[in-house]
Amino acid sequence: MTGTVHFVGAGPGDPQLLTLKGRDLIAQAGAILFAGSLVSEAATQWAPAGCEVADSKDMTLNEITDWLISRARQHITVIRLQTGDPGLYGALIEMIQPLDAADVPVAVVPGVTSAMASMASACETLTLPEITQTVILTRVEGRTPMPEGESLAELAAHHCTICMYLSITLLKTIRRELLMAGWSEQSPILVVQKASWPGEEKIVRGTLSDIRERCMAEGITSQAMIVASPALGARHWPELKKSKLYDPSFTHRFRKASVTDEEQKS
Ligand code: SAH
Repeated sequence: MTGTVHFVGAGPGDPQLLTLKGRDLIAQAGAILFAGSLVSEAATQWAPAGCEVADSKDMTLNEITDWLISRARQHITVIRLQTGDPGLYGALIEMIQPLDAADVPVAVVPGVTSAMASMASACETLTLPEITQTVILTRVEGRTPMPEGESLAELAAHHCTICMYLSITLLKTIRRELLMAGWSEQSPILVVQKASWPGEEKIVRGTLSDIRERCMAEGITSQAMIVASPALGARHWPELKKSKLYDPSFTHRFRKASVTDEEQKS
């Protein structure tokens, strides 16, 4: 018998943000390996009695995949619990390849990624009509090199929403690259640490010129999302371009326009 290894996105921290599918798999798991440095162990609260639960924080990649393969020989359902979504900075393929080589079936369950959780915590939108309709999920070059064409300065030329993972120690670089791309010193920046973690979340707002100092003052040096976006703070704008979907002059599949464009303007 060989069971399936499910790579389950645990979400950003709050166990309530796990998907129902993830929770149901946990409830039937024979063994769970969670990434303890980032995933809250609380997500394993639905594991059945007798389920083996282990933390991978001290394991190498080989140890992780050996563990998953050996458990798949013993249980029908084995879970690798990952932070946020498994497909974002989650070493997913590095783990799947050895499982493929060992003929162990795999499946992936998506999770709420920390960029979305951070924006939700701050009551911000990722897209806004006529302001930005595009989101870039990226990181800034540190020890991991960025592929050609993906430097922050190049990406920032789009002036859209940019969510930066794994980059909280690189706020100086972020400022330099965004300035190079034409963003102003006054551009709003949002930093959320431990988004959705009950009692631990910190939200810091600032501008490109002062966000680094503000984060230092709050002692934020890890587990934080940085968002640069022309849509930040829109909740308090007096004038908004509204979404066409709810516009009375806009006809779509489920609703006929009740007023014409001209009536709307007058
Ligand atoms: N797969 C994860 C990302 C893993 S990389 C996801 O989809 O969210 C780890 C980085 O994710 C951290 O450096 C931080 O930038 C971000 N991160 C993870 N959890 C977070 C949280 N609860 N709040 C803010 N940022 C978080």
